[in-house]
Amino acid sequence: MALQEQENFRDSIGTISEDGKRNHIFPKKPSGKFTNYRTYLSWFLLAILVISPFIKISGNQFLLFNILEGKYNIFGQPFWPQDFYLLVLSMLVGIVFIILFTVIFGRIFCGWVCPQTIFMEMVFRKIEFWIEGDRGKQIRLNKQPWNADKIRKKVIKWTIFFIISFLIANVFLAYFIGSDVLLQYITGNPLDHISTLIKLLVFTLVFFFVFAWFREQVCIIVCPYGRLQGVLLDRKSIVVAYDYKRGEDEQGRKKFRKNEDRNEMGHGDCIDCNQCVVVCPTGIDIRNGTQLECVNCTACIDECDDIMDKVGFEPGLIRYASEDDITKGEKFKFNARIKAYTAVLTILVGVLVTLLFLRSDIEATILRLPGQNFTTTETSVTNLYNFKLINKTVKDLNNVEIKLISHAGEVRIVGGNSKIAKGSLTDGMIFIEIDKKDLESSKDKLKIGIYSDGKLIETTSTNFTGPMKIK
Ligand code: SF4
Ligand code: SF4
Repeated sequence: MALQEQENFRDSIGTISEDGKRNHIFPKKPSGKFTNYRTYLSWFLLAILVISPFIKISGNQFLLFNILEGKYNIFGQPFWPQDFYLLVLSMLVGIVFIILFTVIFGRIFCGWVCPQTIFMEMVFRKIEFWIEGDRGKQIRLNKQPWNADKIRKKVIKWTIFFIISFLIANVFLAYFIGSDVLLQYITGNPLDHISTLIKLLVFTLVFFFVFAWFREQVCIIVCPYGRLQGVLLDRKSIVVAYDYKRGEDEQGRKKFRKNEDRNEMGHGDCIDCNQCVVVCPTGIDIRNGTQLECVNCTACIDECDDIMDKVGFEPGLIRYASEDDITKGEKFKFNARIKAYTAVLTILVGVLVTLLFLRSDIEATILRLPGQNFTTTETSVTNLYNFKLINKTVKDLNNVEIKLISHAGEVRIVGGNSKIAKGSLTDGMIFIEIDKKDLESSKDKLKIGIYSDGKLIETTSTNFTGPMKIK
Protein backbone atom coordinates (compact mmCIF):
# COMPACT_ATOMS: atom_id res chain seq x y z
CA MET A 1 0.00 0.00 0.00
CA ALA A 2 1.35 3.43 -0.88
CA LEU A 3 2.51 5.69 1.93
CA GLN A 4 -0.24 8.26 1.42
CA GLU A 5 -2.94 5.65 1.95
CA GLN A 6 -1.36 4.25 5.11
CA GLU A 7 -2.74 6.24 7.98
CA ASN A 8 -3.57 3.55 10.51
CA PHE A 9 -0.08 3.86 12.07
CA ARG A 10 -1.33 7.07 13.66
CA ASP A 11 -3.92 5.10 15.68
CA SER A 12 -1.32 3.59 17.99
CA ILE A 13 2.21 4.13 19.24
CA GLY A 14 4.83 1.43 19.15
CA THR A 15 5.57 1.60 22.85
CA ILE A 16 2.03 0.99 24.10
CA SER A 17 0.21 -2.29 23.51
CA GLU A 18 -3.45 -2.54 22.51
CA ASP A 19 -4.50 -3.15 26.12
CA GLY A 20 -2.68 0.01 27.21
CA LYS A 21 0.40 -1.64 28.68
CA ARG A 22 4.00 -0.64 28.03
CA ASN A 23 5.48 -2.31 24.98
CA HIS A 24 9.18 -2.61 25.67
CA ILE A 25 11.32 -1.99 22.62
CA PHE A 26 14.21 -4.33 21.88
CA PRO A 27 16.03 -2.54 19.07
CA LYS A 28 18.58 -4.33 16.96
CA LYS A 29 22.18 -3.28 17.56
CA PRO A 30 22.88 -0.56 14.98
CA SER A 31 26.08 -0.41 12.96
CA GLY A 32 27.34 1.66 10.08
CA LYS A 33 28.86 4.98 9.10
CA PHE A 34 26.51 7.26 11.03
CA THR A 35 26.55 5.06 14.13
CA ASN A 36 30.35 5.27 14.11
CA TYR A 37 30.33 9.08 13.78
CA ARG A 38 27.77 9.36 16.57
CA THR A 39 29.85 7.07 18.76
CA TYR A 40 32.99 9.22 18.31
CA LEU A 41 31.02 12.40 18.98
CA SER A 42 29.42 10.85 22.08
CA TRP A 43 32.85 9.99 23.53
CA PHE A 44 33.91 13.58 23.01
CA LEU A 45 30.73 15.03 24.57
CA LEU A 46 30.79 12.61 27.50
CA ALA A 47 34.41 13.54 28.16
CA ILE A 48 33.47 17.25 28.18
CA LEU A 49 30.52 16.60 30.50
CA VAL A 50 32.62 14.66 32.99
CA ILE A 51 35.77 16.82 32.85
CA SER A 52 34.20 20.32 32.80
CA PRO A 53 33.48 20.60 36.54
CA PHE A 54 37.08 19.59 37.30
CA ILE A 55 38.76 22.09 34.95
CA LYS A 56 39.85 25.32 36.62
CA ILE A 57 40.63 28.64 34.96
CA SER A 58 42.51 31.03 37.25
CA GLY A 59 41.21 28.90 40.11
CA ASN A 60 37.59 29.11 38.96
CA GLN A 61 35.61 26.03 38.02
CA PHE A 62 35.09 25.98 34.23
CA LEU A 63 31.32 25.46 34.54
CA LEU A 64 29.46 25.96 37.82
CA PHE A 65 25.74 26.46 38.49
CA ASN A 66 25.53 26.81 42.26
CA ILE A 67 21.95 28.00 42.52
CA LEU A 68 21.78 27.78 46.32
CA GLU A 69 24.76 30.09 46.86
CA GLY A 70 24.10 32.20 43.76
CA LYS A 71 27.50 31.40 42.21
CA TYR A 72 27.80 30.75 38.52
CA ASN A 73 30.89 30.25 36.37
CA ILE A 74 30.66 30.06 32.62
CA PHE A 75 33.92 29.21 30.83
CA GLY A 76 35.72 30.07 34.07
CA GLN A 77 34.20 33.57 34.29
CA PRO A 78 32.22 34.17 37.49
CA PHE A 79 28.66 35.44 37.10
CA TRP A 80 26.41 36.64 39.90
CA PRO A 81 22.65 36.84 40.43
CA GLN A 82 23.13 40.55 39.53
CA ASP A 83 24.00 39.33 36.01
CA PHE A 84 20.61 37.64 35.74
CA TYR A 85 19.70 39.80 32.73
CA LEU A 86 22.58 38.17 30.84
CA LEU A 87 21.20 34.75 31.69
CA VAL A 88 17.75 35.72 30.43
CA LEU A 89 19.25 37.09 27.22
CA SER A 90 21.41 33.99 26.78
CA MET A 91 18.31 31.84 27.18
CA LEU A 92 16.52 33.90 24.54
CA VAL A 93 19.48 33.45 22.19
CA GLY A 94 19.42 29.72 22.96
CA ILE A 95 15.70 29.43 22.22
CA VAL A 96 15.93 31.31 18.91
CA PHE A 97 19.02 29.29 17.97
CA ILE A 98 17.18 26.02 18.69
CA ILE A 99 14.17 27.20 16.65
CA LEU A 100 16.38 28.19 13.72
CA PHE A 101 18.41 25.01 13.92
CA THR A 102 15.26 22.88 14.11
CA VAL A 103 13.60 24.66 11.18
CA ILE A 104 16.64 23.78 9.06
CA PHE A 105 17.89 20.49 10.47
CA GLY A 106 14.90 19.02 12.33
CA ARG A 107 15.79 17.02 15.44
CA ILE A 108 19.47 16.57 14.65
CA PHE A 109 20.19 17.76 18.22
CA CYS A 110 18.23 14.80 19.67
CA GLY A 111 20.22 12.17 17.79
CA TRP A 112 23.69 13.65 18.06
CA VAL A 113 23.96 15.88 21.14
CA CYS A 114 21.09 15.31 23.61
CA PRO A 115 22.43 13.80 26.87
CA GLN A 116 19.37 11.54 27.13
CA THR A 117 20.08 9.92 23.74
CA ILE A 118 23.82 9.77 24.34
CA PHE A 119 23.51 8.09 27.74
CA MET A 120 20.72 5.80 26.55
CA GLU A 121 22.11 4.66 23.20
CA MET A 122 25.85 5.05 23.71
CA VAL A 123 26.24 3.96 27.33
CA PHE A 124 23.33 1.99 28.79
CA ARG A 125 22.14 0.30 25.58
CA LYS A 126 25.69 -0.77 24.68
CA ILE A 127 26.11 -2.35 28.11
CA GLU A 128 22.79 -4.14 27.59
CA PHE A 129 23.93 -5.49 24.21
CA TRP A 130 27.17 -6.61 25.83
CA ILE A 131 25.47 -8.49 28.69
CA GLU A 132 22.22 -9.71 27.13
CA GLY A 133 23.13 -9.92 23.47
CA ASP A 134 21.38 -8.48 20.41
CA ARG A 135 17.63 -8.01 19.90
CA GLY A 136 16.69 -11.70 19.42
CA LYS A 137 18.58 -12.84 22.52
CA GLN A 138 17.11 -10.03 24.61
CA ILE A 139 13.56 -10.93 23.58
CA ARG A 140 14.15 -14.58 24.41
CA LEU A 141 15.78 -13.70 27.74
CA ASN A 142 12.85 -11.54 28.73
CA LYS A 143 10.32 -14.22 27.84
CA GLN A 144 12.09 -17.07 29.59
CA PRO A 145 11.30 -17.90 33.23
CA TRP A 146 13.56 -16.60 36.00
CA ASN A 147 16.32 -19.19 35.96
CA ALA A 148 19.93 -18.81 37.12
CA ASP A 149 21.12 -17.45 33.76
CA LYS A 150 18.43 -14.76 33.61
CA ILE A 151 18.94 -13.73 37.24
CA ARG A 152 22.71 -13.51 36.73
CA LYS A 153 22.44 -11.37 33.60
CA LYS A 154 19.78 -9.05 35.01
CA VAL A 155 21.59 -8.58 38.33
CA ILE A 156 24.88 -7.80 36.57
CA LYS A 157 23.15 -5.36 34.21
CA TRP A 158 21.19 -3.54 36.90
CA THR A 159 24.21 -3.34 39.19
CA ILE A 160 26.28 -1.74 36.43
CA PHE A 161 23.34 0.56 35.56
CA PHE A 162 23.09 1.62 39.20
CA ILE A 163 26.83 2.33 39.48
CA ILE A 164 26.79 4.42 36.29
CA SER A 165 23.65 6.26 37.47
CA PHE A 166 25.46 7.03 40.74
CA LEU A 167 28.49 8.34 38.82
CA ILE A 168 26.26 10.51 36.61
CA ALA A 169 24.54 11.90 39.73
CA ASN A 170 27.98 12.76 41.17
CA VAL A 171 29.04 14.53 37.98
CA PHE A 172 25.84 16.59 37.95
CA LEU A 173 26.32 17.37 41.64
CA ALA A 174 29.80 18.71 40.82
CA TYR A 175 28.13 21.26 38.52
CA PHE A 176 25.86 22.41 41.35
CA ILE A 177 27.95 22.39 44.50
CA GLY A 178 31.41 22.60 42.90
CA SER A 179 33.95 19.83 42.31
CA ASP A 180 36.08 20.86 45.32
CA VAL A 181 33.16 20.48 47.71
CA LEU A 182 32.17 17.21 46.06
CA LEU A 183 35.69 15.80 46.50
CA GLN A 184 35.63 16.94 50.14
CA TYR A 185 32.34 15.09 50.64
CA ILE A 186 33.65 11.96 48.91
CA THR A 187 36.77 11.83 51.08
CA GLY A 188 34.97 12.90 54.28
CA ASN A 189 32.56 11.14 56.59
CA PRO A 190 29.20 10.59 54.77
CA LEU A 191 27.33 11.22 58.06
CA ASP A 192 28.60 14.82 58.07
CA HIS A 193 26.59 15.65 54.96
CA ILE A 194 23.80 13.12 55.06
CA SER A 195 21.22 15.38 53.35
CA THR A 196 23.48 15.74 50.27
CA LEU A 197 23.99 11.99 50.23
CA ILE A 198 20.23 11.40 50.31
CA LYS A 199 19.72 13.85 47.42
CA LEU A 200 22.50 12.09 45.52
CA LEU A 201 20.81 8.73 45.99
CA VAL A 202 17.44 10.15 44.91
CA PHE A 203 19.02 11.47 41.68
CA THR A 204 20.79 8.13 41.21
CA LEU A 205 17.43 6.34 41.42
CA VAL A 206 15.89 8.82 38.97
CA PHE A 207 18.69 8.19 36.44
CA PHE A 208 18.44 4.44 37.04
CA PHE A 209 14.68 4.54 36.48
CA VAL A 210 15.05 6.59 33.29
CA PHE A 211 17.76 4.48 31.69
CA ALA A 212 16.73 1.04 32.93
CA TRP A 213 12.99 1.32 32.39
CA PHE A 214 11.52 4.64 31.18
CA ARG A 215 13.96 5.06 28.27
CA GLU A 216 12.44 6.32 24.98
CA GLN A 217 9.34 7.48 26.89
CA VAL A 218 11.36 10.55 27.93
CA CYS A 219 11.58 11.61 24.28
CA ILE A 220 8.02 10.64 23.42
CA ILE A 221 6.08 11.79 26.49
CA VAL A 222 8.21 14.11 28.63
CA CYS A 223 10.51 16.15 26.38
CA PRO A 224 8.90 19.46 25.34
CA TYR A 225 11.36 19.87 22.48
CA GLY A 226 9.98 16.77 20.75
CA ARG A 227 6.46 18.23 21.02
CA LEU A 228 7.59 21.39 19.25
CA GLN A 229 8.52 19.57 16.08
CA GLY A 230 5.00 19.76 14.70
CA VAL A 231 5.11 23.57 14.61
CA LEU A 232 8.76 24.01 13.70
CA LEU A 233 9.25 21.55 10.87
CA ASP A 234 8.11 22.29 7.34
CA ARG A 235 8.57 20.67 3.95
CA LYS A 236 12.04 22.17 3.66
CA SER A 237 13.40 20.93 7.00
CA ILE A 238 16.12 18.31 6.67
CA VAL A 239 15.16 15.25 8.70
CA VAL A 240 15.81 11.51 8.68
CA ALA A 241 13.41 10.57 5.90
CA TYR A 242 12.43 7.58 3.82
CA ASP A 243 12.43 8.30 0.08
CA TYR A 244 9.03 6.82 -0.73
CA LYS A 245 9.27 8.05 -4.33
CA ARG A 246 12.25 5.80 -4.82
CA GLY A 247 11.15 3.05 -2.46
CA GLU A 248 7.68 2.28 -3.79
CA ASP A 249 5.61 1.88 -6.92
CA GLU A 250 1.81 2.33 -7.20
CA GLN A 251 1.23 -0.96 -5.41
CA GLY A 252 3.58 -0.04 -2.57
CA ARG A 253 6.60 -2.08 -1.48
CA LYS A 254 7.68 -5.35 -2.92
CA LYS A 255 9.73 -8.05 -1.17
CA PHE A 256 13.07 -8.97 -2.65
CA ARG A 257 13.17 -12.00 -4.93
CA LYS A 258 16.39 -13.44 -6.23
CA ASN A 259 17.00 -13.15 -9.97
CA GLU A 260 14.08 -10.76 -10.38
CA ASP A 261 14.74 -7.55 -12.34
CA ARG A 262 12.98 -5.00 -10.13
CA ASN A 263 13.53 -2.20 -12.63
CA GLU A 264 11.81 -4.13 -15.34
CA MET A 265 8.95 -4.99 -12.99
CA GLY A 266 8.69 -1.31 -12.04
CA HIS A 267 9.21 -2.02 -8.32
CA GLY A 268 10.68 0.52 -5.95
CA ASP A 269 13.90 -0.07 -4.00
CA CYS A 270 12.34 -0.84 -0.62
CA ILE A 271 12.40 -4.62 -0.24
CA ASP A 272 10.13 -4.43 2.82
CA CYS A 273 12.70 -6.22 4.98
CA ASN A 274 11.53 -4.36 8.11
CA GLN A 275 15.11 -3.87 9.32
CA CYS A 276 14.66 -0.09 9.64
CA VAL A 277 11.80 -0.80 12.05
CA VAL A 278 13.51 -3.40 14.24
CA VAL A 279 16.59 -1.19 14.66
CA CYS A 280 14.56 1.85 15.76
CA PRO A 281 14.97 2.62 19.49
CA THR A 282 11.56 4.31 19.61
CA GLY A 283 9.81 1.50 17.79
CA ILE A 284 8.50 3.41 14.79
CA ASP A 285 8.42 2.78 11.08
CA ILE A 286 10.13 5.75 9.44
CA ARG A 287 8.49 4.75 6.15
CA ASN A 288 5.27 6.24 7.54
CA GLY A 289 6.88 9.69 7.38
CA THR A 290 8.24 12.10 9.98
CA GLN A 291 6.85 11.28 13.41
CA LEU A 292 7.08 12.83 16.86
CA GLU A 293 8.80 9.69 18.17
CA CYS A 294 11.73 9.92 15.73
CA VAL A 295 14.81 11.21 17.56
CA ASN A 296 16.89 11.29 14.37
CA CYS A 297 19.28 8.69 15.73
CA THR A 298 20.27 7.57 12.17
CA ALA A 299 20.10 3.86 13.08
CA CYS A 300 17.58 3.25 10.29
CA ILE A 301 19.81 5.06 7.76
CA ASP A 302 22.71 2.74 8.57
CA GLU A 303 20.52 -0.34 8.57
CA CYS A 304 18.86 0.47 5.25
CA ASP A 305 22.19 1.40 3.63
CA ASP A 306 23.49 -2.00 4.69
CA ILE A 307 20.45 -3.72 3.13
CA MET A 308 20.82 -1.66 -0.06
CA ASP A 309 24.45 -2.69 -0.23
CA LYS A 310 23.53 -6.37 0.16
CA VAL A 311 20.94 -6.30 -2.63
CA GLY A 312 23.12 -4.15 -4.88
CA PHE A 313 21.16 -0.87 -4.79
CA GLU A 314 22.41 2.65 -4.18
CA PRO A 315 22.45 3.73 -0.50
CA GLY A 316 20.30 6.62 0.72
CA LEU A 317 16.80 5.17 0.51
CA ILE A 318 16.54 6.45 4.08
CA ARG A 319 18.70 9.56 4.44
CA TYR A 320 18.86 13.14 5.67
CA ALA A 321 16.44 14.87 3.29
CA SER A 322 13.55 17.33 3.24
CA GLU A 323 10.09 16.51 1.93
CA ASP A 324 10.70 18.87 -0.98
CA ASP A 325 13.97 17.11 -1.73
CA ILE A 326 12.16 13.77 -1.93
CA THR A 327 9.13 14.95 -3.92
CA LYS A 328 10.67 17.64 -6.16
CA GLY A 329 14.41 17.09 -5.89
CA GLU A 330 14.73 20.59 -4.38
CA LYS A 331 17.86 21.12 -2.32
CA PHE A 332 18.06 23.33 0.76
CA LYS A 333 17.36 27.05 0.27
CA PHE A 334 17.32 30.02 2.64
CA ASN A 335 13.60 30.85 2.68
CA ALA A 336 11.93 33.92 4.22
CA ARG A 337 11.22 32.16 7.53
CA ILE A 338 14.86 31.13 7.99
CA LYS A 339 16.03 34.62 7.03
CA ALA A 340 13.70 36.18 9.64
CA TYR A 341 14.92 33.85 12.42
CA THR A 342 18.54 34.49 11.38
CA ALA A 343 18.01 38.27 11.57
CA VAL A 344 16.46 38.03 15.06
CA LEU A 345 19.24 35.71 16.22
CA THR A 346 21.96 38.02 14.88
CA ILE A 347 20.45 41.02 16.70
CA LEU A 348 20.12 39.09 19.97
CA VAL A 349 23.69 37.76 19.77
CA GLY A 350 24.91 41.31 19.03
CA VAL A 351 23.12 42.68 22.10
CA LEU A 352 24.43 39.84 24.28
CA VAL A 353 28.04 40.30 23.15
CA THR A 354 27.80 44.08 23.71
CA LEU A 355 26.41 43.59 27.22
CA LEU A 356 29.11 41.04 28.01
CA PHE A 357 31.77 43.56 27.00
CA LEU A 358 30.10 46.34 28.98
CA ARG A 359 29.72 44.14 32.06
CA SER A 360 31.79 45.67 34.83
CA ASP A 361 34.33 43.59 36.72
CA ILE A 362 33.29 45.09 40.04
CA GLU A 363 29.71 45.43 41.16
CA ALA A 364 29.42 48.27 43.68
CA THR A 365 26.20 49.03 45.54
CA ILE A 366 26.05 51.90 48.05
CA LEU A 367 22.61 52.60 49.51
CA ARG A 368 21.52 54.84 52.36
CA LEU A 369 20.62 52.93 55.52
CA PRO A 370 16.81 52.58 55.53
CA GLY A 371 15.07 54.69 58.18
CA GLN A 372 18.27 56.51 59.09
CA ASN A 373 18.27 60.29 58.86
CA PHE A 374 21.32 62.48 58.29
CA THR A 375 23.12 64.02 61.23
CA THR A 376 24.56 67.51 61.27
CA THR A 377 27.15 69.49 63.13
CA GLU A 378 27.81 73.20 62.89
CA THR A 379 29.75 72.79 59.69
CA SER A 380 29.04 69.37 58.20
CA VAL A 381 26.41 66.76 57.35
CA THR A 382 26.83 63.00 57.71
CA ASN A 383 24.88 60.15 56.11
CA LEU A 384 25.16 56.45 56.82
CA TYR A 385 25.22 53.87 54.01
CA ASN A 386 25.31 50.13 53.44
CA PHE A 387 27.82 49.05 50.85
CA LYS A 388 28.42 45.84 48.95
CA LEU A 389 31.35 45.22 46.61
CA ILE A 390 31.44 42.11 44.41
CA ASN A 391 34.68 41.07 42.75
CA LYS A 392 33.59 39.41 39.48
CA THR A 393 37.13 39.03 38.21
CA VAL A 394 39.44 36.03 38.38
CA LYS A 395 42.04 37.87 40.49
CA ASP A 396 42.05 39.17 44.07
CA LEU A 397 41.61 42.90 44.68
CA ASN A 398 43.94 44.37 47.32
CA ASN A 399 43.87 47.64 49.28
CA VAL A 400 40.33 48.42 48.26
CA GLU A 401 39.20 51.96 49.13
CA ILE A 402 36.01 53.95 48.68
CA LYS A 403 36.49 57.65 47.89
CA LEU A 404 34.31 60.59 46.97
CA ILE A 405 34.82 61.88 43.44
CA SER A 406 32.12 64.51 43.00
CA HIS A 407 32.51 66.23 46.39
CA ALA A 408 35.21 66.96 48.89
CA GLY A 409 34.48 65.08 52.07
CA GLU A 410 35.39 62.17 54.28
CA VAL A 411 34.50 58.48 53.91
CA ARG A 412 34.77 56.33 57.05
CA ILE A 413 34.36 52.59 56.53
CA VAL A 414 32.89 50.32 59.22
CA GLY A 415 33.31 46.60 58.52
CA GLY A 416 34.13 45.00 55.20
CA ASN A 417 37.55 43.95 54.03
CA SER A 418 40.19 45.86 52.15
CA LYS A 419 40.98 42.65 50.26
CA ILE A 420 38.26 41.07 48.11
CA ALA A 421 39.15 37.62 46.89
CA LYS A 422 38.27 36.68 43.30
CA GLY A 423 34.64 35.73 42.87
CA SER A 424 33.68 36.93 46.35
CA LEU A 425 32.12 39.96 47.99
CA THR A 426 32.57 42.20 50.96
CA ASP A 427 30.00 44.40 52.65
CA GLY A 428 29.71 46.79 55.54
CA MET A 429 28.74 50.37 56.35
CA ILE A 430 30.24 53.75 55.54
CA PHE A 431 29.78 57.20 57.01
CA ILE A 432 30.09 59.98 54.46
CA GLU A 433 30.68 63.42 55.93
CA ILE A 434 30.59 66.51 53.72
CA ASP A 435 31.00 70.17 54.64
CA LYS A 436 27.76 72.12 54.36
CA LYS A 437 29.47 74.67 52.17
CA ASP A 438 30.24 71.93 49.61
CA LEU A 439 26.62 70.79 49.28
CA GLU A 440 24.44 72.31 46.59
CA SER A 441 21.00 71.18 47.75
CA SER A 442 19.19 69.07 50.31
CA LYS A 443 19.64 66.06 48.03
CA ASP A 444 22.95 65.95 46.21
CA LYS A 445 23.98 63.14 43.92
CA LEU A 446 27.38 61.76 44.91
CA LYS A 447 29.79 60.12 42.54
CA ILE A 448 31.89 57.57 44.39
CA GLY A 449 35.01 55.77 43.21
CA ILE A 450 36.19 52.26 44.16
CA TYR A 451 39.98 51.97 44.13
CA SER A 452 42.30 49.01 44.35
CA ASP A 453 46.01 49.60 44.99
CA GLY A 454 45.33 53.27 44.33
CA LYS A 455 43.78 52.62 40.89
CA LEU A 456 40.17 53.53 40.07
CA ILE A 457 38.36 50.29 39.18
CA GLU A 458 34.68 51.25 39.34
CA THR A 459 32.42 54.23 39.93
CA THR A 460 28.95 54.30 41.37
CA SER A 461 26.51 56.95 42.59
CA THR A 462 24.20 57.50 45.53
CA ASN A 463 22.13 60.26 47.12
CA PHE A 464 23.28 62.46 49.98
CA THR A 465 20.59 64.25 51.98
CA GLY A 466 20.97 67.27 54.18
CA PRO A 467 18.96 70.05 55.78
CA MET A 468 16.77 72.23 53.52
CA LYS A 469 18.76 75.36 54.10
CA ILE A 470 22.40 74.86 53.56
CA LYS A 471 24.67 77.58 54.76
S1 SF4 B 1 15.48 -1.12 5.73
FE1 SF4 B 1 15.24 -0.07 3.76
S2 SF4 B 1 14.65 -1.72 2.41
FE2 SF4 B 1 14.32 -2.51 4.42
S3 SF4 B 1 12.19 -2.01 4.89
FE3 SF4 B 1 13.41 -0.33 5.63
S4 SF4 B 1 13.40 1.14 3.97
FE4 SF4 B 1 12.76 -0.80 3.09
S1 SF4 C 1 13.05 6.38 12.72
FE1 SF4 C 1 15.22 6.07 12.34
S2 SF4 C 1 16.20 7.99 13.00
FE2 SF4 C 1 14.12 7.96 13.82
S3 SF4 C 1 14.37 7.16 15.88
FE3 SF4 C 1 13.85 5.44 14.55
S4 SF4 C 1 15.82 4.61 13.89
FE4 SF4 C 1 16.22 6.62 14.77
